[in-house]
Amino acid sequence: MSRLISGERQDDEHGSLISELGIDRALRPQTFDDFVGQAPLKANLKVFVAAAAARRESLDHVLFYGPPGLGKTTLAQIVAKELGVGFRATSGPMLAKAGDLAAILSNLEPNDVLFIDEIHRLNPAVEEILYPAMEDYVLDLIIGDGPAARTVRIDLAPFTLVGATTRAGLLSQPLRDRFGIPLRLEFYTPEELTRVVIGAARKLGTPVSEDGAMEIASRSRGTPRVAGRLLRRVRDFATADGATTIDKKAASKALARLEVDQVGLDHSDRRYLRALIENYSGGPVGLETIAAAIAEARDAVEDMIEPYLLQQGFIQRTPRGRMACARAYLHLGLNPPAAIPP
Ligand code: ADP
Repeated sequence: MSRLISGERQDDEHGSLISELGIDRALRPQTFDDFVGQAPLKANLKVFVAAAAARRESLDHVLFYGPPGLGKTTLAQIVAKELGVGFRATSGPMLAKAGDLAAILSNLEPNDVLFIDEIHRLNPAVEEILYPAMEDYVLDLIIGDGPAARTVRIDLAPFTLVGATTRAGLLSQPLRDRFGIPLRLEFYTPEELTRVVIGAARKLGTPVSEDGAMEIASRSRGTPRVAGRLLRRVRDFATADGATTIDKKAASKALARLEVDQVGLDHSDRRYLRALIENYSGGPVGLETIAAAIAEARDAVEDMIEPYLLQQGFIQRTPRGRMACARAYLHLGLNPPAAIPP
């Protein structure tokens, strides 16, 4: 599902993680001070990083969890930079075999940061070798197979694993237990996102007025990646219209053409809400059913559509399924029935 307002990294941004060439990279804050929002998380993380740096030890393993596009990769890079150590990045699906991870681990320098994105998608055989590596900085490799197989133990340099996941619930308990510093990222407030937009516009060399930035921020679903993407598209429209500055008028005209509404919902969100209300009388309805009704994959619905609708109070998740709240009816211009959640 490719959507303008999804927090997922998209094709043009994908290279950023590995090749450092992507657009995300250009907009990425480089220091804690540059990184807007997530104040409580940032305050704690700064203390842990400073303490590890002062002791010249590796930082304890960190798990960042929360919806896509909130800054997990960015924070991992900032942590490495502030520690003054190397940064290696990979992802759960890229580590197909135990040997892939072993090769990366055995090449790390002391106290380096190894970032594993989508860590909930690690293959169990790879996860097995991660446990002793995280706990004791050793690799237990099995050489040969059958009765002649034997285990060889290799010492590793101490390192910090920074894991990122949109689904902390899918992580196995033993893996979760090995992260000394689990941190949850929250959606950003419109004020914080306004600062993100102003910072990104400065980096892109595009003049933006305060109210123009606010207009983009308020439709960005609490997500910096969406804010950056909308800013680039709005900039395209402004260029086409010969506007020199992105002000409120230019921003809202462009966003209307992009079909992103006042609260940041797009076509897919509205289709979801409409199906929930019109086909299933507002629910409760199961995830599978609603995903099938709008012809989207179940995971995409759960990761990319529902978190923001839940956070904004458009829907509720109950043991019997999803239910529309009054706000969903009102947003679609419908009358909410009397007996539904506010
Ligand atoms: P995640 O890893 O959670 O999917 P990223 O760290 O890749 O998210 O961030 C997505 C985009 O949003 C990047 O372009 C990044 O520069 C920008 N971004 C994320 N968090 C912030 C922030 N707090 N301040 C400014 N820009 C941010």
